[in-house]
Amino acid sequence: KKYVYYFGDGKAEGTGQMKDLLGGKGAGLAEMTNLGIPVPSGFTITTEACREYFKLGKKFPKGMWEEVLKNLKKVEKSMGCKFGDAKNPLLVSVRSGAKFSMPGMMDTVLNLGLNDETLKGLINKTKNERFAYDTYRRFITMFGSIVTDIDRKKFEDLLDDLKEKKGVKLDTELDAEDFKSIVEKYKELYKKETGKDFPSDPYEQLKMAIKAVFDSWYGDRAVTYRRLHGIPDDLGTACNIVAMVFGNMGENSGTGVGFTRDPSTGEKKFFAEFLPNAQGEDVVAGIRTPLKIEELKKRMPKVYSQLEKICNKLERHYKDMLDIEFTIQEGKLYMLQTRVGKRTARAAIKIAVDMVKEKLIDKKTALLRIEPEQLNQLLHPTIDPKAEVKVIAKGLPASPGAAVGKVVFSAQDAEEWANKGEKVILVRNETSPEDIGGMAVAQGILTARGGMTSHAAVVGRGMGKCCVVGCGAINIHEDEKYFTVGDITVREGDFITLNGTTGEVILGQAPLVMPALPEEFYILMKWSEELSKLKVRANADTPKDARVAREFGAVGIGLCRTEHMFFDPERIKAFREMILSDSIEQRRKALEKIKPYQKEDFIGIFKEMKGLPVTIRLLDPPLHEFLPKTEEEIEVLSKEMGVSTKKIKAKIKALEEFNPMLGHRGCRLGITYPEIYEMQVRAIMEAACELAKKKIKVIPEIMIPLVAHVNELKMMKDLTVRTAEDVMKQYKVKIDYKVGTMIELARAAITADQIAQEAEFFSFGTNDLTQSVYGLSRDDAGKFLPFYIEHKLIEEDPFISIDTEGVGQIMEIAVKKGRKTNKNLKLGICGEHGGDPKSIEFCHKIGLDYVSCSPYRVPIAKLAAAHAKL
Ligand code: ADP
Ligand code: MG
Ligand code: MG
Repeated sequence: KKYVYYFGDGKAEGTGQMKDLLGGKGAGLAEMTNLGIPVPSGFTITTEACREYFKLGKKFPKGMWEEVLKNLKKVEKSMGCKFGDAKNPLLVSVRSGAKFSMPGMMDTVLNLGLNDETLKGLINKTKNERFAYDTYRRFITMFGSIVTDIDRKKFEDLLDDLKEKKGVKLDTELDAEDFKSIVEKYKELYKKETGKDFPSDPYEQLKMAIKAVFDSWYGDRAVTYRRLHGIPDDLGTACNIVAMVFGNMGENSGTGVGFTRDPSTGEKKFFAEFLPNAQGEDVVAGIRTPLKIEELKKRMPKVYSQLEKICNKLERHYKDMLDIEFTIQEGKLYMLQTRVGKRTARAAIKIAVDMVKEKLIDKKTALLRIEPEQLNQLLHPTIDPKAEVKVIAKGLPASPGAAVGKVVFSAQDAEEWANKGEKVILVRNETSPEDIGGMAVAQGILTARGGMTSHAAVVGRGMGKCCVVGCGAINIHEDEKYFTVGDITVREGDFITLNGTTGEVILGQAPLVMPALPEEFYILMKWSEELSKLKVRANADTPKDARVAREFGAVGIGLCRTEHMFFDPERIKAFREMILSDSIEQRRKALEKIKPYQKEDFIGIFKEMKGLPVTIRLLDPPLHEFLPKTEEEIEVLSKEMGVSTKKIKAKIKALEEFNPMLGHRGCRLGITYPEIYEMQVRAIMEAACELAKKKIKVIPEIMIPLVAHVNELKMMKDLTVRTAEDVMKQYKVKIDYKVGTMIELARAAITADQIAQEAEFFSFGTNDLTQSVYGLSRDDAGKFLPFYIEHKLIEEDPFISIDTEGVGQIMEIAVKKGRKTNKNLKLGICGEHGGDPKSIEFCHKIGLDYVSCSPYRVPIAKLAAAHAKL
């Protein structure tokens, strides 16, 4: 078995495709090497070795170490120096790297191979004592904290003490003697903490470091990250051993990270930061705030243009936006990492559309690059530009959007407060992987330190979370739980607002509005429509919802619930009057009062939909939902209507049901009180006729809910047709209308062949259908369903994603049987599931014509519909 893959001098044993085996980092290093890009030589120990290591009870698999030694020889030869050599020593980095990039999750040890002997060699080779001791103290810090778990703060405290004594602020202000004394202190610390001397044998160091990389796969932070991102636990990590190149050799050295395009906006512009005279960890940890890459262009124009060329080459090769890590050693550039870069939704869309224009990818690839759920980010509100707000500070705009919330100062507090339903903003000096849980629940993140590529920025963008970093103006007192800016003090629990697009920090709660969408968004929607079969409609009950739906490209309304129109205070009065009526005459009188309201609503909605089909569901919920609940309300109603409270209470009692979900509702209401449905059909048809007279095209689709038996539909259809014909005769116009039904009861689905003979369309009401097929009450499932999911009895909440094996099978039966007796049957779905990408894929598979979802999910559904076909 082969456990180790070498790369160096323009040739690698692995390739970019081998992410499963070499991890993302190892695959990237191999690919760059093969592309002739300058990468220091090294080798990758496979994820398979890691998996076997755990199987063997944390022992290296047989033969692995021998392979490591063999490949180390190759690296020595390539670099012209020797591991552990006292004259000309080779140092290496030991780096983790799993299949999925887990930023900052797994630890890297740099400068390995140093001891008192090789240190002399390093000094001899570089004639730079300061550099050598700086490198040594970095190594002991990293090795001590990562491999042997000594609290990193203890090392940093010793360094801070020294800086304070010398009266300097930055590491770069310390000299060789300072570092020399620090190295001695670090060794003492190591001995005190571990009870052992610092390991001087480089091979021993290497063995320990590789084990530490493997072990970190099951570290708490990594496990948490995987849980949050749904990454399986059994993949293991690869381990990369790479010859060291040094960014800390002086002002013509440095290290940096970047993206081939702007990860926030997607703009085609090299986007990077660098730190002169530093090693990689300095940038990522956000200890020193890095310089913009334009600064590198000024200082080392040749290196800059080489870097730009490499970025172009990588983009052309990978056909995607990449992130990169590089180091410059005395004017010579080395690439240390590349992978497909994380980006915001806005950037993802722009990059995908731009790359189609640049002929790097085709439309299909572009659509597949964007996860439907990601679009959610774009459809989120931003701060109202017209609002007057009090900006108290400005940091770097690391991840766009807006966030309003109460300030908390630790990840733990963020989680506790969020659990209580509070919206919080997490404020930290800088974040670290331990904070992931708190970051996930916060509305936004604000840090005082760190650049655009710091931990907070990268993680924030990955989560699609508003994030402002490097806001140096704020002074955070974490323990006392407040921060100050100038003379303003903001305490725990105070509201602030973050503007992740400008970096502004605002006192209090700023008003939010929906942002204008970028041009590329509409292009993407157009392509989605072109490349999908399934149409997307929206669920909309008001003209306003209908407008939003159309703006987002819905091609009709799949569900307009008429009952929502009754809850307006003025209307509910008339409606209650209707319910409390004793005779048909009384009821008709009350219904006459309601009709104008309904008609007005339908006119508004039809106008917005400009000739697109509008499916209107006749009254569905049980009547008691509309009656007053409290004594007070009953009192008011009694006065208004001149009916005794006693009578109202008796009526409420009479309407009470043991199981309202399966009670007197849906078409059962229409059958027992035909005047209600008749009024509704009149309102719909009158609205349609009035508009038709004004030459406005209208396509009403009247939908009868909760049908179980074909005879129910027959009766309600007769009533509908009779009423509709009557209205059309009255107005002397013809309207192209349809009558159909919802399929939301198991009996209806099973007898779909009979029902389809009476219906022109079916719309699957998958909320009720799930309840009735699963025998599961949605309103009561909260007590046990979460347990089912946590213990993996079922994979997913069937109210979020269609239970394809059960409920889905019933749907399939209904589709087949329905189409058998009615070839022209139109089929759609209007439950919550209509906006869920997985369910949409299923709807495509069983051959529905459209899905209908809430207006804000229309873009998500359109993209998901395209994905389903591609
Ligand atoms: P992470 O996955 O956290 O980014 P890396 O393994 O990429 O960890 O290491 C972090 C940084 O350490 C790199 O960006 C680079 O700057 C530095 N580094 C890693 N290996 C080397 C090396 N061989 N020579 C110089 N710097 C290195
Ligand atoms: Mg890295
Ligand atoms: Mg229903």
